[in-house]
Amino acid sequence: MNEILKAPRAYDTEVLWQKDKDHFIHPFTDFSVFHEQGCDLITGSEGIHVEDSHGNRFIDGIAGLWCVNVGHGRSEIAQAMAEQATRMAYFSTFNNLSNAPAAELAAKLAELAPAHLNHVFYSCGGSAANDATIRLVHYYFNRLGKPNKKRILSRRNAYHGTTYLAASLTGIESNNWDFDTLDHLVTHLSEANCYRRPEGMSESEYCDHLVKELEDTIERIGADNIAAFIAEPIMGAGGVLMAPKGYHKRMQAVCRAHDILYIADEVVTGFGRLGHFFASEAMFDTQPDIINVAKGLSSGYAPLGATLISDELYEVLGTPQRKGGVLSTGFTYSGHPVSCAAALKNIEIMQRESICDNVREVGPYLEERLKTLAHHATVGDVRGSHFMLCIENVADKTTKKLLPVEARVGDRIAFEAQQRGLIVRPVGHLNIVSPPLIWDRGVVDRVVETLDESLAATTATLK
Ligand code: PLP
Repeated sequence: MNEILKAPRAYDTEVLWQKDKDHFIHPFTDFSVFHEQGCDLITGSEGIHVEDSHGNRFIDGIAGLWCVNVGHGRSEIAQAMAEQATRMAYFSTFNNLSNAPAAELAAKLAELAPAHLNHVFYSCGGSAANDATIRLVHYYFNRLGKPNKKRILSRRNAYHGTTYLAASLTGIESNNWDFDTLDHLVTHLSEANCYRRPEGMSESEYCDHLVKELEDTIERIGADNIAAFIAEPIMGAGGVLMAPKGYHKRMQAVCRAHDILYIADEVVTGFGRLGHFFASEAMFDTQPDIINVAKGLSSGYAPLGATLISDELYEVLGTPQRKGGVLSTGFTYSGHPVSCAAALKNIEIMQRESICDNVREVGPYLEERLKTLAHHATVGDVRGSHFMLCIENVADKTTKKLLPVEARVGDRIAFEAQQRGLIVRPVGHLNIVSPPLIWDRGVVDRVVETLDESLAATTATLK
């Protein structure tokens, strides 16, 4: 146990809840329920566990929010951040100013990424990385004298964040209820979802069908008006949706043929979750023009996002468009030294402890064990890959019909699991399992046992 956890701090939960309720606008929260229920204060964390203000301990089955990849309570990362904050907490990186961690990290990312991605644009998280990317892509085509190439192809049920542009790319309908989106910039294609593919279609026919939709869309809109296609290698928040085999490679080939850039949003799939620092090339045989990462890049110890850009694009972005011109985009905190120091230490730990190897070894076991839960009445599908998995609950396994929303099946399973010491994430009728990448087989067995009991308890109350 680290020194800080050895000295427990008392929290006045009631007082804190009141302050929170009165003043903190939580993201993605239903305040009508929240005001009645109050919130859970997470006050401690170490390794694979988190602890609440009442001293209850839970196995973290969601790595915070798909991000604490090396696990909690790593004093080494805290130490690296403290050292950097003490030495030089912040200075601008505009123009020719830089700092050591930002430079070191950019070089490290170029070393880890596919060979043609050698240039890094920093932001503060995944939404900002996606947002900045679209601006850069538009700028790139403007510079090439192709100002009509503006439209971005995204997919229904994709999640790319919540800045205005990133939310517009996002294809989860309910996420944008009552919000506005930049519809003139984005066209959504179908999601790639093998489980819910059209009845009677084989996986390879389904792949043909999705590729044809892309080709038809390009023909309809015109390649001259389309700048890029953006995709998560496996869709995360949309429900860990698995594309048919070969989908990404074929989609990229069509994009290439039409001078459409291919952007991989690896905010979740990157940094080890699928057993590689970058999944695009290693697992999906694609060579994106741009890859975005965040979350696991710093394992959540500090906010950080990065856009990895190809040599080809950089050649255009890197030269001023006119005398006195500069690439006028970036943030106060682009290349923040404390965040970059956290990311460097995080990567050092991942390499030293061979964390990607652990994911490649334990991930398939987690998937295999979770699949044993398919006998439960509500479990229609268990899917995903390595440490990015999901259970889809249904009312009827044959028709795949969903339970009514009021049944709140995902919430109920998550509640039962939490009562038994495990946190999994409910998203509607789904339960997502996306743990820190340090789970071993013993932990997997405990987790699956807990989920088994939680599913049984939930099913009993649904009758
Ligand atoms: N892209 C993907 C694939 C994500 O899953 C997320 C967040 O969950 C984002 C982008 C947005 O990242 P952030 O919440 O750091 O802005």
